[in-house]
Amino acid sequence: MTNDWKTRTKLVHEGSRRSQYGEMAEAIYLTQGFVYPTAESAEERFIKAGEDEFIYARYGNPTTRMFEERIAALEGTEDAFATASGMAAVNGALTALLRAGDHVVSSRALFGSCLYILEEVLTRYGVNVTFVDGADLDQWRAAVTPATKAVFFESMSNPTLELVDITEVSKIAHAVGALVIVDNVFATPVFSRAVEQGADVVVYSTTKHIDGQGRALGGVICGTREFIRKVAEPYLKHTGAAMSPFTAWIMLNGMATLDLRCRAMAESALKIAEVLSGDDRISKVIFPALASHPQHALAMAQMGSGGTLVTFDIKGGKEAAFKFCNALEIIKISNNLGDAKSIATHPATTTHQRLPQPQKDALGITPGLIRLSVGLEDVGDLIHDLQNALSAI
Ligand SMILES: *Cc1c(COP(=O)(O)O)cnc(C)c1O
Repeated sequence: MTNDWKTRTKLVHEGSRRSQYGEMAEAIYLTQGFVYPTAESAEERFIKAGEDEFIYARYGNPTTRMFEERIAALEGTEDAFATASGMAAVNGALTALLRAGDHVVSSRALFGSCLYILEEVLTRYGVNVTFVDGADLDQWRAAVTPATKAVFFESMSNPTLELVDITEVSKIAHAVGALVIVDNVFATPVFSRAVEQGADVVVYSTTKHIDGQGRALGGVICGTREFIRKVAEPYLKHTGAAMSPFTAWIMLNGMATLDLRCRAMAESALKIAEVLSGDDRISKVIFPALASHPQHALAMAQMGSGGTLVTFDIKGGKEAAFKFCNALEIIKISNNLGDAKSIATHPATTTHQRLPQPQKDALGITPGLIRLSVGLEDVGDLIHDLQNALSAI
């Protein structure tokens, strides 16, 4: 984007378009199509459908376009394409780019549906996929080949908050001409500098921090104009990935408070991680902003924050973890994250239930593990809730 607005200004104003009525709030253009004054202008529109010219909502819509411009400005990319869900964005970014015979290297610690796309979908169409331990740079170096078209990873993994070094993995990928595609949900758009650090394409599930209030599914792919318009868009617009204008309006409103929310949540997360670290009913606390995190230095360099999630292992395994969850009053048992409401998840029996035991072991998903998404409640109330629930075990 061409202005030099700071982040919070962009989050409130970037991409706004006003109709002839000069409405204050972003308008929801709940329309599937557009009317042309003449047959000639319809013909013209179909030839060049430019940035301000829409022909069908599956291809683009003014409300959705406002959201795309706002997130691209935040992420520091030339362009973005909004999708109906985070998975439509992950699938779109990979499937639009890859052809039979191409090779992809991916970190192993992936969100379940991302793993499905890499393991089951891409391979079905003749794409070769190699999985590596994302934190081990030697494995990335050993895995890339001249046929490697893309590397894919979650910059911070779910639920054990392990980081991938974006700068170093990007160097390894670019040396063989591969594109770096990052699923950056856990890092949040606020703490992300992924593009600066070498990523070519950044993907978000906007269902998480961007909505931030648990209302709507959404996703977005951010990248160069070349990637978004020449590679991604043709695939996305013809296969029906589009975000609805109503969802885009929800996301636009989420963006206005995104910076404030993520910073407040990360501040509370650090306080909670510190308190839990000193609790002898807990065997391990994982939070990147704690000095005890094995990649603490990398986390500070890459995100400058620990993020908004805290993962911890309760002594006493599944039974203790369940008693703990059931005793929570403010914090809800659920599986979203990045929400204003704090959420406790027991990955072993929910989000990661279907993984075979050896894979759970490899990813560190133990029976006592809890993933806490820290919300916007008063941090004192949250700490009180956590301590009460620990006492109930
Ligand atoms: C939630 C999530 C997704 C999928 O997003 P949806 O909006 O649920 O489709 C992908 N990657 C990560 C890391 C996520 O947390």
